Amino acid sequence: MIQIKRHNHRPHTEDELQWWVTEYVADRIPDYQMAAWLMAVCWQGMTPEETASLTRCMYQSGQVLKWDLPSLPTPPPSSPPSSPQSSQDLALVDKHSTGGVGDKVSIILAPLVASLGVNVPMMAGRGLGHTGGTIDKLESIPGYQSQLSIADFQKVVLEVGCAIVSTTPDVCPADQKLYSLRDVTATVASIPLQTASIVCKKVAEAPHSLVLDAKYGRASFQADSSEALVLAESLIRTAEANGVKSTAFLTRNDHPIGRAVGNWWEVKECIDVLHGNINKGNHDLVTLVVVLAAQMLLQANRHRNKNFDGLVHLVYETLREGNAFEVFRKMVQAQGGDVSLVDDPESFPPPTFSQDIVAPQAGTIANLDALLIGRAGIALGAGRSEGGETVDPGAGVWFHVGVLDEVEADQVLATVYTNRSADRLAKGVEMVTSAIKIQDGGSAVCRTPPIISHFVTSRDGAQIFNIPKVLRDMS
Ligand code: URA
Repeated sequence: MIQIKRHNHRPHTEDELQWWVTEYVADRIPDYQMAAWLMAVCWQGMTPEETASLTRCMYQSGQVLKWDLPSLPTPPPSSPPSSPQSSQDLALVDKHSTGGVGDKVSIILAPLVASLGVNVPMMAGRGLGHTGGTIDKLESIPGYQSQLSIADFQKVVLEVGCAIVSTTPDVCPADQKLYSLRDVTATVASIPLQTASIVCKKVAEAPHSLVLDAKYGRASFQADSSEALVLAESLIRTAEANGVKSTAFLTRNDHPIGRAVGNWWEVKECIDVLHGNINKGNHDLVTLVVVLAAQMLLQANRHRNKNFDGLVHLVYETLREGNAFEVFRKMVQAQGGDVSLVDDPESFPPPTFSQDIVAPQAGTIANLDALLIGRAGIALGAGRSEGGETVDPGAGVWFHVGVLDEVEADQVLATVYTNRSADRLAKGVEMVTSAIKIQDGGSAVCRTPPIISHFVTSRDGAQIFNIPKVLRDMS
């Protein structure tokens, strides 16, 4: 397998890939051989047919969910339409991001969409390379169980409206193993590997449709919108070939999304937004959440009297009213998490080591380099540099300012945290400091492009996306 892919004189057959994935999951292929093959895939790529076959082998390595469960509870006559109880009533939609720094969107999005009557069965990932992972973030809540049995996963989705879980030995075990190996072998940024990893999880959840967030820019695995489009098209093609109707947004990740980077800090920021606190510091985060949620609702076809703009208004108002927080709280409780921390985020134990970074001069924040910040996160312990490493839930960075903010000399720009050691803190501070660029003069000297640039469908390809006015005017 390694030689075939290294020389790439012909594509792999589905039988070969089936054997390779099955043997690896059964621990009969060692990690070092799989790592060599993954690296060969990074260099040589895969045909669309190979990518589709790899995806199939990956979801067939475990079970695919069925939503017509015989054990569904019978609905009481008065149950509201927002708690669907039978498979005919279910509108199941999910979203997946290709990975970014400060990308905490799923933690707000899933409960928000569920609060509007659409169920979200979300299978998410851990940190990958310099990017964070939703599962590592949620596991910073003590007790939070991300590895649920299929029956428990479905129960939470049906009873609460959403659940966020990881791959397990039952569902996509191949992705579970390959994902950890790619994380520590610099084999993440490959279109076929990303496609198979993302789509296998989504097909296994068996949603009716999917919305993808294909990221590009400094901290993403795709450098620019044309690379993100190639990935988005590969994801849509592969998902639709497996029966899951999909659309994608192309979105930027040059700067961290929102103010927090690092597991607990990101959850804390999400709790604030879920309470309806929308401010200048989280506009980019809220824009992404609202646009992705509106598209999910549109695809779910639940609010038939509303078009996309109408759904944007509905989602934005729902978020501002704080209605999604209760769904988030219920999801955490149903997945075994300690809700006292969710109710009182200030009770999180302060990390042993922390340090403020102050502005060396007055001016405008011209750049917060999300790639350097993501790498600082790994140095601090928020991500992994070796397979199987545990992450430090308290490691990370809280930015007190964002790009285009005007700052005074000596103003606190960011606070850096870790429980690991004073040395790791010093390294993190050095890296975050080098990621912050201050330019002389007011904000008129700098520009940042919109966070969402395109919308992609299999029918119409990529179209320029205009951020809805209500989100441009947000205050
Ligand atoms: N998210 C995934 O689940 N897999 C990838 O490869 C990248 C992002």
